[in-house]
Amino acid sequence: MVVKRRKLLYGIISALAIIYAASVYIVPRKLDKNHNKIQQLPPYSVSDEALALYNSLEFISDLHCDALLWSRNLTIKNSVGQVDFPRMQEANVALQAFTIVTKSPKGQNFSENTAEAFDNITLLNFVQARPISNWFSLFERAVYQSKKLHKQASKFNNEFIVVKNAEDLIRLISLRKNNPKVVGGFLGIEGGHCLEGKIENLDKLFKEGVRMLGPTHFFDNELGGSAHGVSKKGLTSFGYDVISRMNELGMIIDLAHASPQIIDDVLLQSKKPVLVSHTGVRGTLDNSRNLSDKHVREIDAKGGLIGVAYFKGAVTTPLIKGIVDAMKHIKDISSVDCIALGSDFDGSATTPFDITGLPLLVEELIHQGFSEEEIRAIMGENVKRFMLKNLSQ
Ligand SMILES: [Zn+2]
Repeated sequence: MVVKRRKLLYGIISALAIIYAASVYIVPRKLDKNHNKIQQLPPYSVSDEALALYNSLEFISDLHCDALLWSRNLTIKNSVGQVDFPRMQEANVALQAFTIVTKSPKGQNFSENTAEAFDNITLLNFVQARPISNWFSLFERAVYQSKKLHKQASKFNNEFIVVKNAEDLIRLISLRKNNPKVVGGFLGIEGGHCLEGKIENLDKLFKEGVRMLGPTHFFDNELGGSAHGVSKKGLTSFGYDVISRMNELGMIIDLAHASPQIIDDVLLQSKKPVLVSHTGVRGTLDNSRNLSDKHVREIDAKGGLIGVAYFKGAVTTPLIKGIVDAMKHIKDISSVDCIALGSDFDGSATTPFDITGLPLLVEELIHQGFSEEEIRAIMGENVKRFMLKNLSQ
C-alpha cells in the first residue's frame, strides 16, 4: 500500500515537472510574442530624402525599452519583440536605455492601481524559470536583470558597451567612428519599490550598473504616489532621501509614471536636470499618463529630456503621426532641446514598427516641417548632450 502510494506521488511529481519544463519552453516566447506586437512588419520603405537623412544621423538614442523583462536572447536577431542588439545595429541606434520592471499589477490601467493587486511579474518569473530568489524579492529581480544586460553584452563580439559614465559614452562615440556596429545601452529601473524601503539597496544597484530610476511605476510605493496609483501623493521622506542620494551618485531621475505631485516635488528638490523616459503630452492626448504643458516647460527649462513613447494611450492614432504630433506640441509650447525618443519597446504595448522602422519616424518629422538640425537633435543628439553632462563621472 505504502509502495503504491509512493509510486503515485512520484508519478504526480514527474508529471508536474514535465508540465513545468514544457511551459518554461513554450510559454515565455508566446507571452513575449503576444505582448510586444508591431503594427507594420519589416522591411520598411521610406522616401529617398528621409533615408538619406536617416543614414547621415551620427547618434540615435532611445530612452526606454523593457527588453530585459523577457527571456529573449538579445544577442541574436529575433522574430519576436521590438528590439535586440542586432536590430539596434541594423537601425544604427547608438544608445538604448534598458529599463527594469520588477512588479506589475494585474488589471493594470492608467487611472488607479493598488500595490496589493496580484503581481504579473511573479508569474512571469515562474514560467521563465528565473532563479527562485527572484520569485520573492523585487530587489533580486532588479539585480538579475542588471546582470542579464552585462552578460548579454559580454557575449556580443565586443560590439556592445554598457554605458555607466560619461567616459564610457565618449568611448562608445569614438569607437563608432571606425566601427558603427558598436552599440551601447544603459540601465534604468521603473519604480523604486525594488529598493524594498532600504536606501543602501540604491547603492547596491548603482554598483550593478544602474544609472536611472523612476520613483514609481503603476502603483504607490515607499517613495510616493504613482500617476496611476490611489493616493496621487508626492514624495515621502524616503522618496526625498532617494532623490538626494541619486543626485550624489550621479543617477538620472526618470519621472515617467510619477504622480504630478512627485514631478513638482522632484523639480523643486533635484539639483540636476531630470527626464521623462517614455510619455505623451496632455496637449495632444489628455490623460493621467501624460505630461501637462506646465511640466513640459519646467522640465525643459531645467535642461531635461522628454522621451515620446510610441503606443496608443501615450499618443494619438495613427501612431507615427501621433508621435510626431506630440513632439510638435512640445516644440510649439517649449523647445526642441528637450525632445527625445522614448519608444517603450518591449513594454507590453503595440508599437507602429520595431526598432528598424525608425526611418518612418524621420519621414513623418520631415513631413511635419521639422528641420534637419531639429531632427538630428530629436533622434539622439539631445540625449547625447544630456548624458555627457549628467551621467556620473
Ligand atoms: Zn513604463
